Amino acid sequence: MSQPLTMIRPDDWHLHLRDGPVLTTTVGHSAKQFARAIIMPNLKKPVTTTELAMAYRDRILAAIPDGLAFSPLMTLYLTDDTSIEEIKRAGNSKHIVALKLYPAGATTNSSSGVSDIECTYSILEEMIEFNMPLLIHGEVTDPSIDIFDREKIFIERHLEPLTRRYPELKIVLEHITTHDAVAYVEEGNSTLAATITPHHLLLNRNAMLVGGIHPHHYCLPVLKRERHRQALVKAATGGNPRFFLGTDSAPHEIASKESGCGCAGIYSAHAALELYTEIFEAAVASFHGADFYGLPRNKETISLVKRPWVSPESYQFGEEGTVRPFRAGEALDWTLYANLHRTIQ
Ligand SMILES: [Zn+2]
Repeated sequence: MSQPLTMIRPDDWHLHLRDGPVLTTTVGHSAKQFARAIIMPNLKKPVTTTELAMAYRDRILAAIPDGLAFSPLMTLYLTDDTSIEEIKRAGNSKHIVALKLYPAGATTNSSSGVSDIECTYSILEEMIEFNMPLLIHGEVTDPSIDIFDREKIFIERHLEPLTRRYPELKIVLEHITTHDAVAYVEEGNSTLAATITPHHLLLNRNAMLVGGIHPHHYCLPVLKRERHRQALVKAATGGNPRFFLGTDSAPHEIASKESGCGCAGIYSAHAALELYTEIFEAAVASFHGADFYGLPRNKETISLVKRPWVSPESYQFGEEGTVRPFRAGEALDWTLYANLHRTIQ
């Protein structure tokens, strides 16, 4: 067995836990891997108020397995109707750390999203007062724009004017997928950062489309060309403090993935660190996310060892459903110490 790799326990800066009975699975997996996570607010009924976020937080806390410490960092879903009073309430709550902007219709449960960013200017100004980051799903929803170009065009049409108007607003461009996004963040000022998922680091669009259509590799933003993947790996491993880990682990019940109109999202929470470690081999953990959000750095450590295990074909997902995880039935090179029992000998 190789030398174990020990690192400060990381945080997941972009996570979908969903709601209801499936929290047993999703919270259990993430709590084993991460100290904290930014919890996305796109539930079927979006988390638009501090009150809803605090109730959701209680349901998450109740699902943490005994003996594990995990802090959900809550976010609110920005809509056309979000009020300044709501931003004040969120800003004064120590458990709500950011707002999420979905262009209306961009991804799963985003129909309540913002129809025009310009309509949110007064809200953004209030967020600046509280130093609250705006987390952005950066894709245009214009049906005339090719799906592979939607991130690039979003940057040109919406992000560039926004960062120019509000240079002091902290922005996280979530789950970036293109070299255009990497370049834009690299050239941006210190208030602009980005998260990168394990699947966008490990896969290009061939994984979704070659040899048949692979619905379990369908996500949004959609996988891109190999040269974009390479730009992401370079950004993730390059040490720039404005790129950090965000799994965007986004489970769907298996039947809604394997369907004539399959849902977007890849479930990676069961093995997030093992997957990232394949890319990094060292120094997966970083303080970049905590520093950007202005949160304390974690102190406890977590270890992985280079020892293969086979990811299960599925996990229970709610009372009757199942979810098929990333790399289902395939071997992964790294194993979390906490998971050594599942290692194949
Ligand atoms: Zn997401």
